[in-house]
Amino acid sequence: MALAAGEIRTALERIALARANPEQSVACPHCDREGLIVTDRSARPYAEWYHLACAGCGLDETIHVPLGPPVPGADE
Ligand SMILES: [Zn+2]
Repeated sequence: MALAAGEIRTALERIALARANPEQSVACPHCDREGLIVTDRSARPYAEWYHLACAGCGLDETIHVPLGPPVPGADE
């Protein structure tokens, strides 16, 4: 399954949320079900990759996050 462009943007926001609040469950960008599994598969410092999995809709997607300016509130 592939995410639509708008869903990828949502996915990036939820990845950022999951990184900022590791304790908090985030919702699937595709079906909005809570409990999205975000797995960090980054190859820093070159790129960040996150694998997203959802038990609700069967989402199984790896998202590339371009490395940009530091995110406010991120560690470091
Ligand atoms: Zn889902």
